[in-house]
Amino acid sequence: MQAFDLLINYDVISPLINEGFDRLPHALLFAGPGGVGKRALAEHLAAALLCEAVTPQHHACGECVACRWMAAGTHPDFRRISLDDAGSEDSPGGEGGGEKVAEKSGDKAKKQKSRSIGIDQIRALEEFVFVGSHRNARRVILLDEAELMTIPAANSLLKILEEPPSNVYFILISNHQKSLLPTLRSRSRVVLFSHPDHATATQWLKEAGLGDKAARYLNRAGGAPLRVMQWKTDDQLAAIDALIESLASSDTTTDPITLASRWEGLLKAKGENPFLMENLVEGIQCWLFDLALEQATGEVRYHAGWPRPREVKQLNSFALLSAWREINAYRRSARHPLNPLLFLESLAIHYLRALKPAT
Ligand SMILES: [Zn+2]
Repeated sequence: MQAFDLLINYDVISPLINEGFDRLPHALLFAGPGGVGKRALAEHLAAALLCEAVTPQHHACGECVACRWMAAGTHPDFRRISLDDAGSEDSPGGEGGGEKVAEKSGDKAKKQKSRSIGIDQIRALEEFVFVGSHRNARRVILLDEAELMTIPAANSLLKILEEPPSNVYFILISNHQKSLLPTLRSRSRVVLFSHPDHATATQWLKEAGLGDKAARYLNRAGGAPLRVMQWKTDDQLAAIDALIESLASSDTTTDPITLASRWEGLLKAKGENPFLMENLVEGIQCWLFDLALEQATGEVRYHAGWPRPREVKQLNSFALLSAWREINAYRRSARHPLNPLLFLESLAIHYLRALKPAT
C-alpha cells in the first residue's frame, strides 16, 4: 500500500469534514493541477460517505458490505460520471455536441470515444438522485473531468444543484475549473489542491519503486507525483527516457528522417498502454520550453536532473519560441494524424530548426 498521507490527504478537506459528514456541502469541487491526488481523495471520501461503519477519523472501514461494494464497483448508491462512460449517442452539433475521435490502442481500434460529457449522462442521474437510497440514505456522485461537460449537461446539473435532495453529495473533479460554468462553480464548495512539497513527493515516489530516478520523473511531470505513478503503471518510463535521450543527443547535423524513425520506434512499442503521439508531442513541447527557459535564465522546469544538451546558451531564443508555438499547433492534430510518419518528420524538422545557434 502506498503512503497514506500523500494519496489521501484529508488535511485538504478537514475544515469540511471535521464538523461531520451531515454538514458537508451538497456539491464539492476538487480543483487543481492533474496528478496531485484529487481523484484518489474523491474516491476515498465517497467510500467514507457510504461506509456503514465509518471510523472516528471519517475514513471508510474497508470491511462492511458498502465498502466491499465500493471496492467491487457495484455500490447501488454510487455513480461515477466520466468520459469513459460517455456514450457515442451525442452527435456533433446535436444537443450533446460531443466531438468524437477514433482512438487507437495497440493493435485494436477502440470504439469511438466522446470528448465531452453529454446531457444524457447527467439526465440519467435524475432518477438516481431523486429516488431514495438503497442503504444508508446517502448517495454519492463523482463527476470526473467536470470541465468536459457540454453546456446543456452543465445546465442540467445546475438544475439538480439548485434544489439538491437531502443526503445527495456531488464531488466534481476538475484540472481546469476556470472552464466550468461560473454558476456551477458558485453552487459548489471549491476545494483547491496544489502540488505536494517536492521533497515529500520525491520520497513517496522512491518508496513506490522509482528509486533514484524519483526526483527527475517528478520534475518531468511538473511536480505531479500521481502522474509519475501513472507512467509507471502504464509502462511509459522507458519511452520517456528514450524520447528525452533522442532530443538531448540531437543537434543541427541530425537528419530529421533518422530522428523521426527513432520516434516512430517509440510509438510502435507493444503493450497495454502504448506511448501515444500526443505523449510524444507533449514531451517535445516540455523539452523546447526548457531549452528556451534555460537559454534565458539558466534554469529548467521539467528536466532538472536529466541530461542537458551542451550548448544551450548559444541557441536562438526566437527560433526556440517559434518552434514551441508551431509544435503547440501540432498537439491538436496529434490524436489522429493522417500520415503518422509524415507527421513525425515534420515535427523533427521543426525541432531541429529550433536548434540553430544564434548568429
Ligand atoms: Zn465500511
